[in-house]
Parts: sequence; C-alpha cells; structure tokens
Amino acid sequence: MTLRIDLSRCSGCALCLESCPFGALALDEGVARVDALACTLCGACVPVCTEEAITMEETRAVADKGSGVLVFAEQRGGVLAPVSLELLGIGRRLADDLGTTLHALLITETPDDLPTTLYVHGADVVHVAAAPGLGDYRTEPYTSVTTQVVLELAPEIVLMGATARGRDLAPRVAQRLGTGLTADCTELSIDPKERLLLQTRPTFGGNIMATIITPERRPQMATVREGVMERLLADPSRTKDPVTVSLPVELQGIETFCEIVTEARRAVTIDRARILVAGGRGVGSAEGFTLLGELAEVLGGELAGSRVAVEKGWIGRERQVGQTGSSVAPDLYIACGISGSVQHRAGIKGARVVAAINTDPEAPIFHRANFGIVGDFREVIPLIIRTLKRGRKDA
Ligand SMILES: Cc1cc2nc3c(=O)[nH]c(=O)nc-3n(C[C@H](O)[C@H](O)[C@H](O)COP(=O)(O)OP(=O)(O)OC[C@H]3O[C@@H](n4cnc5c(N)ncnc54)[C@H](O)[C@@H]3O)c2cc1C
Repeated sequence: MTLRIDLSRCSGCALCLESCPFGALALDEGVARVDALACTLCGACVPVCTEEAITMEETRAVADKGSGVLVFAEQRGGVLAPVSLELLGIGRRLADDLGTTLHALLITETPDDLPTTLYVHGADVVHVAAAPGLGDYRTEPYTSVTTQVVLELAPEIVLMGATARGRDLAPRVAQRLGTGLTADCTELSIDPKERLLLQTRPTFGGNIMATIITPERRPQMATVREGVMERLLADPSRTKDPVTVSLPVELQGIETFCEIVTEARRAVTIDRARILVAGGRGVGSAEGFTLLGELAEVLGGELAGSRVAVEKGWIGRERQVGQTGSSVAPDLYIACGISGSVQHRAGIKGARVVAAINTDPEAPIFHRANFGIVGDFREVIPLIIRTLKRGRKDA
C-alpha cells in the first residue's frame, strides 16, 4: 500500500496531523506532507480528510520482476547472528542460479568489520544503514529502513532468518510492500523455467512438505529456519567498501527501550557445535551414551540425540536434533544407532559431513550420510577412539 496526498486538494486544515498516531504528517508550505519512514500505512488519516485529498493505493513493490537477491543480515549487539551467514550461503546459490547480484542489508549503529564478514561469506554488495538508535532491533525503524531499501533496490527475492526478530520484521515489510511471505522455510530453490522461488517448509505437524510460490507479487519473500542452510567458507579475497544507505530523517519508533535483559545461556548449544556425536534408539541405554560421550570428548564435540533417545531419558531434551528439536549445522555429524527418519533428517540439513554407524545396511540415514559404517556402535566406536588417540601420540 502507498499513502498518497493530492496536494491540489489539500486545504492545509491539519486535521490529518492530529489523527496520525505516529507523527508522520506535517504541514509544509501550507500543505500536508508525509514522512514515508515514520508512516506505518495504518490509514487513520484517510477518513478525517474532508477534502478527500488523502488516499491509500495498493502498489506492487516492484513494478517489473526486479532483480537481485537481498538478505537481511541480522546482528545482535554488534555480532552477526549465525543465520545471517547461512542466508548468504543459500542466497549465493539462488543468485547464481538466476545470474543476478547478492545484496546484504546490515542495520546497525556502528558497522565495525561486519560488512567485511558479509563480503567474505558471499555478498556481492553490502548496504549499511547505520544511525544512532539502530544498534538494537526496534520494530518500527527497522521496518521503515528495510522497506526503503527494498523499494530502492527492487530485488526479486528477500530473505530473512526465521528468528524472533525476522519473524517480527518480515511480515511487516511484506505487508508494506503488498507482497507474500513464506515463513520458516527449510528448502529454497529456483524453478529454472519460470525463474520463481520455490519456498519449501514443513506443514501439518511436519508430516508433509509444502512448496509455495509467489507468482504475482514482488519481491518473493521468505524467512529461513536457523541452522538449516549451509554457510560458505570465508573467501578473504572478497572485500569491498559497503554502500551507505541514506537515512533522510531521524528514525523514530513507537517503542522505547527500558532495559535489555540477557537470558542466561543454555549450557549446551548443539546448534553452534562444530562436531556432534548423536545417538538413537540403537544406542540402547544411558550407558551406551557414555561411550558416545567418550568419542565426543576425543573429538572436542558435543553429544546429541534423536527424539527416541530423549524420550527414553538417555539424553536431555535440549540436545534433541530434528524437526521438533534443534536444526544443527556442524562440520561433522556422527549418527550412531539412528535410523534417519524424515523428521530427524530435517534437523541435519545444514551438516557439512554426516557419518553413520548402523547395524542395518538399509537404514535411511545412509542416504544422507557421506560416510557409512555398517556395524555395531559398541564395536566401531572404541575402534575409532583408539585410532584417534594413537594418531595423536604418533603425531
Ligand atoms: C511430528 C513428528 C516430529 C518428530 N520430530 C522428531 C525430531 O525432532 N527428532 C527425531 O529424531 N525424531 C522425531 N520424530 C520421530 C521420528 O519419526 C522417528 O521415530 C525417530 O527419529 C526414530 O529415532 P531413532 O532413529 O533413534 O530410532 P529408530 O528409528 O528405532 O532407529 C534405531 C536404529 O538403530 C539401529 N541399531 C540398532 N542397534 C544398533 C547397534 N547396536 N549399533 C548401531 N546401530 C544400531 C537400527 O538398525 C535402527 O536403524 C518425530 C515424529 C513426528 C511424527
């Protein structure tokens, strides 16, 4: 939607100014003007205008199909959220498939070296909107700035993380642009014939995967589940200066920060672990997990488990991997006695290398595994531990 003021009809009565809850209207040379960044398109001013000078018009954000892929690079306290680099990973692939540019938008107070990190992880152009008050996420200013950048760049695709912030921001931006949004995607690809973004996400409790398209509106917008997409290896040769986003007016929001309370971190964050040793029903007992723990320790990794292992009480719920647990993206995921159900595999899409140990050569986990060992974990794991320890002594 767009708010339009027909200046030839405006009498300068200022009734609209009083009606606006966001202070987005002002009189300028005797006529009403709207501050596009402050306006939330709530429409409160339209009925109060006795001259019918104010109208809301439905717009398509991008007149044509647009070009480019834009990734919202989320930062928290000046540190990039892991999902930002994962979005660059998938964004790079989509941009390459479309033969287009990968943009990243960073909204912050002081960018420091974050633009460089975004460049070396795949961005072609990094846009930085930096201003006092933008260091912490605030709904209104972030929505205004993101909408402004999308309108200026006219990208085909806009991606955000399905984080608490992304889930707040993305629908607001989509609403202002008059386009659709698919939330919590676990797969994204391009339909080569139509050049449409195929946005896939679990639905009906994860029992089916739905693929959604946005054929009519632009940009095509999606939020992406954390820990699912693979980040690119850093390429230090990819450095450039960022592009500064001009922010014409002071950014205001209806919210005021009182205090930021940082919750105590969970002791275990399997979604950030580089190595995970995971066990399932085949591990058979809590004692079986002790053996897996020894391997995790030798490798400097963390323990994880399937839902069955959690339900049996062999491992804590915070370590569950899968659709109803965490999505993980380690460099190495070792699945021991895990069959590899669809729900479990949904949580390891971002794993770089998967190794599976299973007595059943037909176990579905072997379809996902890069390395597979058919055997009893009780025999295989001690062998691996001994080999690793011997290798270290010899080195
Ligand atoms: C809506 C929904 C959400 C779900 N969410 C999740 C989720 O988030 N995470 C999840 O994991 N599951 C989830 N599930 C459950 C999922 O469907 C499977 O039931 C579960 O993943 C199976 O766990 P498992 O692989 O440990 O057990 P099983 O499927 O029973 O597999 C055990 C495996 O161990 C092997 N094995 C046996 N003995 C040994 C041995 N000595 N050495 C080596 N291998 C051995 C067997 O060959 C077998 O392949 C969900 C289900 C639903 C319906």
